[in-house]
Amino acid sequence: MEKNNLFTLIPKVDEILGKEEIKRLLEIFPRKIVLNAIREEVNTLRNKIKDDASEEEVIYFIDNLADKIKERVKKDHSFKLKKVINASGVIIHTNLGRSPINEAVIGNITEVASNYSNLELDLDSGVRGSRYKHLEEIIADIIGSEAAMVVNNNAAAVMLILNTIAKNREVIVSRGELIEIGGSFRIPDVMEQSSATLVSVGTTNKTHIYDYERAINENTAALLKVHTSNYKILGFTSSVDSSELFLLKEKYNIPLIEDLGSGVLIDLSKYGLEYEPTVQDSIKKGVDVVSFSGDKLLGGPQAGIIVGKRKYIDDMKKNPLTRALRVDKFVIAALEATLRYYYDENLAIREIPTLNMLTASIEKIDEKAFRLEKLINENIDNKNIRYEIKDDFSEVGGGSLPLEKIPTKCLVLRVDNMSIQRFEDNLRKFYTPIIARVYKDSIYFDLRTIKDQEIPVIVAGIEFALDF
Ligand SMILES: *Cc1c(COP(=O)(O)O)cnc(C)c1O
Repeated sequence: MEKNNLFTLIPKVDEILGKEEIKRLLEIFPRKIVLNAIREEVNTLRNKIKDDASEEEVIYFIDNLADKIKERVKKDHSFKLKKVINASGVIIHTNLGRSPINEAVIGNITEVASNYSNLELDLDSGVRGSRYKHLEEIIADIIGSEAAMVVNNNAAAVMLILNTIAKNREVIVSRGELIEIGGSFRIPDVMEQSSATLVSVGTTNKTHIYDYERAINENTAALLKVHTSNYKILGFTSSVDSSELFLLKEKYNIPLIEDLGSGVLIDLSKYGLEYEPTVQDSIKKGVDVVSFSGDKLLGGPQAGIIVGKRKYIDDMKKNPLTRALRVDKFVIAALEATLRYYYDENLAIREIPTLNMLTASIEKIDEKAFRLEKLINENIDNKNIRYEIKDDFSEVGGGSLPLEKIPTKCLVLRVDNMSIQRFEDNLRKFYTPIIARVYKDSIYFDLRTIKDQEIPVIVAGIEFALDF
């Protein structure tokens, strides 16, 4: 058929709208979305003809037009922020939302958010209460601190602490701890915003107790220790531990603050991981105020948790900044439900997804890898792929335990007739985007961060990516 005649085969929009399948689509989705999808697909067809598509190709496209429109409508109408599958093996992946939370925790958010709640009502007395009170007792119980409060995230926590304790005064911090944590969170910048003056002491690799002591003067408001959570200086190094700084703080009567970053509450060395100082350790060592994230190793919602001496925390609650940094009820509901697991360590390891993935046994991960391999073998008949299970390493991520390499199992796949970059790109465009790792000419699916029920979805994603 002549090219010009092929154009006459293109169905009219009204004709398409009259099809049963499209009518059904109109019952579910907004008319505007359906019309857009029709126009886009018709345009694609027109371009195909312009590019000299054969008659068979054109007819095939038209036969499948309704399906294509359906697919496009679904995609156009899907949420912009949505679930993805983390096959990267980075457990606390900042770009992928850090810590996922479990169904029971979601249940508590639903209960609180879809009803009225006692957010700021004291049920015993009937008078106005504090939103921070709901968390204070459980945090004190688990961590052993006098008082606690919670703000939007840990960057906000650091800012609030410094603004409350050290406004227009000096804070001493080691040069080795002037860190940037990704995004644009840099300790010196945060201090500037909080109106505290930074006094950095020591050198990048070595800071001694006398460096701190020499910098103390009548304008010193606090000593600050920052956990260098996303890097390590190795070799000829020394830093001053909180217990040493405690002696200095006692001698000069100035508060000691610690930004712990990840905020781990369980000794992870029991599970074969590197020892990471816990929040409880810091409190035991006499640190006055400690802050950490809710969605890193703690495994809860985004939040900045501040624990420590009551007098400082009471001052923070009165600081006008607190109002701007305050947490909403969803976060309080999620954090309380997450923290409850910590009453029983085994429960925490089992129920908090971040901890569960972090401590999962290699046997369990291998089982998942085997199942993925088997499903691919049974379902994908494509001569262009080769795959095998390989030993590899997962990462903690989120700027936590930077050197920790956790043994894992990956399904490693190669594609002969497509570049691996294109294949990876296609996987990301699947209806449930799959985020996997490219290394050399292969793609790695790390089973540590993949849930059981995601395995069949990955198989469907691979199929999709192969002919997209
Ligand atoms: C991650 C981190 C922060 C920032 O915490 P957010 O909860 O992301 O705001 C601050 N300090 C340290 C040491 C960190 O590791």
